Order: sequence, then C-alpha cells, then structure tokens
Amino acid sequence: GTPLATLAAIARIARGGAFVKDGAHLEALSGIDTVVFDKTGTLTGGEPQLVGIRPAAGRDERELLELAASAEAYSEHPLAAAIVRGAQERGLRPALPDSFTYTPGLGVTAELGGRTITAGSTTLVPGPEAAAQDAAATAVHVAVDGRFIGSLLLSDAVRAGAPEAIRALHRMGLRTMIVTGDRAGTARPVAAQLGIDEVRAGLLPEEKLAWIDAERAAGHRLAMVGDGVNDAPALARADVGIAMGDGTQIAQDSADVVLVSSDLDDLVGTMRVARRARRIVM
Ligand code: ADP
Ligand code: MG
Repeated sequence: GTPLATLAAIARIARGGAFVKDGAHLEALSGIDTVVFDKTGTLTGGEPQLVGIRPAAGRDERELLELAASAEAYSEHPLAAAIVRGAQERGLRPALPDSFTYTPGLGVTAELGGRTITAGSTTLVPGPEAAAQDAAATAVHVAVDGRFIGSLLLSDAVRAGAPEAIRALHRMGLRTMIVTGDRAGTARPVAAQLGIDEVRAGLLPEEKLAWIDAERAAGHRLAMVGDGVNDAPALARADVGIAMGDGTQIAQDSADVVLVSSDLDDLVGTMRVARRARRIVM
C-alpha cells in the first residue's frame, strides 16, 4: 500500500491547491531536475488581448476579423477566445462555421458557406513575415480558400506570480525551460522577463515529445507543465506531467498533477512537499 507519509503529503498538497493523482507521482516529482513550461496559457495568463488587425492589401479589417472569429468559434485555444472577444467588442456577429478542424500547435481550418478559412501560424498559413515581426505579439494569420487576407496580433501577459515562482524553482536548484509552438520572437521576451534558463520555440506537438525523449535520454528528469490539447502527449511522456486547472480537459486527463487554481506558486509548494516526503519515506 501507499506509505502513510505519502498520503499525508498528498493531502497537504491538496490543501495547497494541487491534485496529485498517485503516490508514485510524488516520488517522481522529488527526483526531477528540470521544469519545462509550455508558454501560451501556462506561463501567460490565458486571456490574450487583440492588439492589432493587419489586413492584406485590398482587404478590410472587419472582414478579416469576422472571418477569423467564425473559424475560431468552436476552438478552446486562448488565442481563439481573444479573437472571438475582439470581434464581439467591435460589434461584429461572426457566423458559426459548418465544420471545424483544429491542428494542435498550428491553428484551425473551418468551412463557412462553401469557403475554407484557415487561421494559425506561418506554417499553416504562410503570410508576409512583416506582419509577424510586430513587437512581441503572437500573430494569427488568416487565409480564405488558400489566399492570405491578413494577420491578427495578440498580446499575452505573463501570469501573476510567475516571476516569483520561477525564482523559487531556481533557488531549489531546478533548471527551467520553455517549449512552445509559438515562434522564438514571442517566446524569448517571455523567457527573459521570467529569467527562464532556456527556450525551444516553434515546436509541433510531436517535436515537443521528441525533445522530451532526448532530454530524458541525456539523463534529465523532467516535469512538464502545460494547458493545451497540443501539450497532452508531452504531459504523458514527461517524468511528471502537470496541467493547469484552467486549461483543457485533455491536458488534465494526461497529467499526473493538476494545479487546480492555475497558480504557479502551488507548483512550488508541491515540489517542496514532494522533496520533504521523500526524506521521510525513504
Ligand atoms: P504554446 O505551445 O505556446 O501553448 P500553441 O502550440 O498552442 O502554443 O500554438 C502555437 C502557435 O500556433 C500559435 O502561436 C499560433 O500561431 C498557432 N495556433 C495554435 N492554435 C491556434 C488557434 N486556435 N488559432 C490560431 N492560431 C493558433
Ligand atoms: Mg499552451
């Protein structure tokens, strides 16, 4: 059976706002040396703001935003929510699409009245790079029937408490990293602001997995913290997968630990209790 000290530690962690699914995960947590964070929705607050509308030449701002919001209507990605909100705030009433496909880490494709709308990264929708290089905002490019019609810019602030949580993890001797599907130009400023040790940007879900495998093969023990559909495989593959409580259900199902109130400080507390419990049990 599970040692009493382990059960007591799990109960203590639960009072601190994190749900550990099994005693074995607690022991794995006490042995990790690297904490890997997804960016969008994990280190950032999950409420991005629409800060720029850049129609292609001869295209209209409202048409661009309305079509993008239609394509994103059924998406649960934080960027999608910001685009839909941005459209509503401008009095637009985007139509619901006839069909919808989400490609994790890339974006969405929707059929609407016989037209195909795609919205996502430059890999899914090649657009003029000039639009993507504006400031540190994340760009979502939009195409209709394969023709680029413009880009939306979204800014996403780091979560409250994130800088303190990263500092505390460093004081515990842990290495920190960002692995993100977003491009380096957006990820690097976030890493710099938080003092995160390393960045891997522009990764598809399967590339996040391959990277985790390589780090583990090099002898590292990883905790992966994520929120999205795109993170689910990596959460399952890391030594310990940790999901944000305000993230997707599939991320929470794939994880070993859930940060119920999405507070990164609860991650620090969980790590501390896990390390203490190891000393008592072993
Ligand atoms: P992260 O790994 O930081 O959480 P994602 O892998 O979810 O980021 O997304 C990576 C990139 O893919 C985004 O920066 C965006 O360009 C694009 N993308 C992903 N999901 C969507 C979506 N629903 N709508 C538009 N673009 C998306
Ligand atoms: Mg994410």
